[in-house]
Amino acid sequence: MDIYSSHIQKLIEQLSRLPGVGAKSAQRLAFHIINMPQEQVSGLAAAITDAKANVRCCKNCFTLTDEEICPICKNENRDHKTIMVVEHTRDLAAYEKTGKYTGVYHVLHGAISPMLGIGPSDIRLKELMKRLEDDVEEVIIATNSSLEGETTAMYISKLVKPTGIKVSRIASGVPVGGDLEYIDEVTLLRALEGRVTL
Ligand code: ZN
Repeated sequence: MDIYSSHIQKLIEQLSRLPGVGAKSAQRLAFHIINMPQEQVSGLAAAITDAKANVRCCKNCFTLTDEEICPICKNENRDHKTIMVVEHTRDLAAYEKTGKYTGVYHVLHGAISPMLGIGPSDIRLKELMKRLEDDVEEVIIATNSSLEGETTAMYISKLVKPTGIKVSRIASGVPVGGDLEYIDEVTLLRALEGRVTL
């Protein structure tokens, strides 16, 4: 027998599918939502549907954006000859918050993971190589320092080296297994400035 109404049960179930939300948090969130004013709930629901319907990948760097080409790729003041390769849009956001990186990005949307069956063709690597046909001077690999991130970094460096374009890897100072988005700005900048040529 269900303790809760089936509507609440359904909401708890949906919420518990989100990453980092366990059964208990899902329950707490569900009750919080039920107690929210109607217009706030409608706003939340609309924001979710709108984001899903309107957000897409930049045609150039594949970050999540509302437009065909993202504001960073469009910005002529950025250095388009330096491309930082990151796993996710949230990693890009972490570097953007430092306000010190002037190059552009390439978002892979994942990392190579033989264990999870994610191969080179499952992430945006082909698209990166295509971009390197233009005038590019440096590729900075800023994938996470997890096993998958390191595997991906090695793979990319092997691909890029024969093109003669400089390849570098952000310095370790970034804790092993650490997601870039959780690292403070000072550490991120230090990792960027201390990058080593591969
Ligand atoms: Zn872009």
